[in-house]
Amino acid sequence: MYPSDTAADHAHLGFATRAIHAGQAPEPQTGAVIVPIYQTSTYAQPALGQHHGYDYSRTDNPTRSALQIALASLEGGHFGLAFASGMAATTTLLLLLKAGDHVVVGDDVYGGTYRLFHRILRNFGLEFTFVDMSDPQAVAEAVRPTTRLIWLETPTNPLLKVADIRAVAEVAHSVGGERPLVAVDNTFASPYLQQPLAHGADLVMHSSTKYLGGHSDVVGGALVTNDEDLYQRLKFTQNAAGAVPGPFDAWLTLRGLKTLALRMQAHSANGMAVAHYLKTHAKVKRVMYPGLPEHPGFAVAQRQMTCGFGGMVSCELHGGAAAAQTLVERTRLFTLAESLGGVESLIEVPAVMTHASVAGSALEVPAGLVRLSVGIEEAQDLVADLDQALAGV
Ligand SMILES: *Cc1c(COP(=O)(O)O)cnc(C)c1O
Repeated sequence: MYPSDTAADHAHLGFATRAIHAGQAPEPQTGAVIVPIYQTSTYAQPALGQHHGYDYSRTDNPTRSALQIALASLEGGHFGLAFASGMAATTTLLLLLKAGDHVVVGDDVYGGTYRLFHRILRNFGLEFTFVDMSDPQAVAEAVRPTTRLIWLETPTNPLLKVADIRAVAEVAHSVGGERPLVAVDNTFASPYLQQPLAHGADLVMHSSTKYLGGHSDVVGGALVTNDEDLYQRLKFTQNAAGAVPGPFDAWLTLRGLKTLALRMQAHSANGMAVAHYLKTHAKVKRVMYPGLPEHPGFAVAQRQMTCGFGGMVSCELHGGAAAAQTLVERTRLFTLAESLGGVESLIEVPAVMTHASVAGSALEVPAGLVRLSVGIEEAQDLVADLDQALAGV
């Protein structure tokens, strides 16, 4: 059966090596160096009740299997599952819960996560409490006997708040009886900068649309865990609910993964340069970047992130919403667009774009907030672009 390796086979290798080789051995029949796009829905069976490990592409597809092995390997996990989008991954995980179960969620999660939990899953009898995840005491106080999941992002979208994954995991482990699972949306950091399983999380979720794919050309999601029982339940649900990526999407994501290490180094260097530039600018009220020593989460970020702090930078302007609008409409290299994590720099106003769905809730973000996804162009060109745009604010 191809691919025949597991994430554990590559555990002794470095990150950049795993990104290129895990799940991606040459295809045995032809020697194709790159995992083929198995654009097929079904598979010939040699005899009744027999198959070569694949019987239907919702259940398993070799291109997707290769991606799943690579994703698990990069997160330092044993088991990976790929989905049609980040939201599909989150939905599949939440399908493990049942009416009456309670979830503790960070109060600054991705707007679409909030929308799914608050507007849809509540109708199925799930209960959600939103808390400040950077305060483990607040998390402990929110846990109930029915809490089955603690859901966090770090750094958060769009306020770049930092949660201490180990401290939250310790809260979960101190619960008697059936303890809640800890799931971390690791989209902003990527596994190159942060591996939540190593800090005690049970599950990692990704929107692979962002840094993992890395080129703004594919939508996808992932779940990774070390817990075999949990993996089997998720794999059953992945097949039963069916929110899987097509083979071409899996292939594009694999292609992106190969350069993840190099890209994250460049994103982190440019993110730091842009954060330093913005923090001294007279029109900028505050800069949110976990790599700045004055950031309240700096010490935790330094401990749980490696090799950098990523390419996401947010800032609030003195001029509020009007100033934010002027800035995002004047940049030329930074493209005004939703999404993040691609090689090209993007800029947006969360209050009216990515986070419009949290307006009026406790998760509402400041109107003058601007979020930058700093790409891997030349840092001096990015700073010059912001400089000319801010001059007009
Ligand atoms: C984009 C994003 C998601 C949702 O992923 P999709 O691939 O768009 O479904 C979830 N969490 C974070 C942090 C994101 O940035």
